[in-house]
Amino acid sequence: METIVTVSQMRTTASRLRSEGGGLSLVPTMGALHAGHEALIAAAKAAGRPVVVSIFVNPLSFGTNENLPGYPRTPEADLALCERLGVEVVFAPAAAEIYPRGYSSYVSEEAVSRPLCGVSRPTHFRGVTTLFAKLLNIIRPDRVFMGQKDVQHVAVMRKLTTDLNYDVEISVAPTVREADGLAVSVRNKELSSTERNEALSISRALKQAKDMVDSGVRSSDRLVAEVTHILGKHNRVRVIYASTVDPVTMEAIREVEPGRALLCIAAWVGETRLTDNVVL
Ligand code: AMP
Repeated sequence: METIVTVSQMRTTASRLRSEGGGLSLVPTMGALHAGHEALIAAAKAAGRPVVVSIFVNPLSFGTNENLPGYPRTPEADLALCERLGVEVVFAPAAAEIYPRGYSSYVSEEAVSRPLCGVSRPTHFRGVTTLFAKLLNIIRPDRVFMGQKDVQHVAVMRKLTTDLNYDVEISVAPTVREADGLAVSVRNKELSSTERNEALSISRALKQAKDMVDSGVRSSDRLVAEVTHILGKHNRVRVIYASTVDPVTMEAIREVEPGRALLCIAAWVGETRLTDNVVL
């Protein structure tokens, strides 16, 4: 496995791997790799093409009130995991390599990125789309692997690649959960044991909503009311949004069409911001 920290080296190596391997897969991450990332990397490896894992804590995706320096970083463990999974290249540039002094160009998507997390994190998606466009330009993968856990990211990147004619396929891997249902996240480590217990109400609420749809409920209002009721029983959980949305546009919907609707939740659990979703 090769670890690359410069854009120029990444370009050269990507172009070699692409021609040798008949294509190239990219798994973009912010590092501190866990079972969710592992499943994505395994899916990318199973696709048979050489795999680049990018590890970059993107300063542009953090708001001014968000703790960029406090984001967990576990470089040695990340490299060991990638090596074990047979990853060909880890691309782990420093921030100044990606955004050198005087950097002033941005890519933004202005519809799908607006609702849900776009409301409470108004500069987040511009950071994510800018980095994503740069990674596509540097690495030129033909396939990118992303997690269902961040379903709005998937929808925004799909819109971006369509709108800007990037020739890349986005593959989505299911959300990896702990045995008790909590979606695996870098943030889970910040939870106290009481908070962690209360955080379980998020996956429970999603499951309840899915069960309601399976038994015939179609009204978004009823689903959201039930979910809000379940979350509301926990005083450390503060809902940021709980919304039934169209999986392509992320716009709120009134009636659920089974298989074509998502229920997305973001909540503060203590000081930790968690997100999760389910296909209804
Ligand atoms: P991050 O490192 O948080 O930027 O995430 C990198 C990729 O891992 C994104 O595509 C996420 O959706 C995905 N991911 C994070 N957590 C999970 C999970 N629990 N299950 C599946 N994919 C995940």
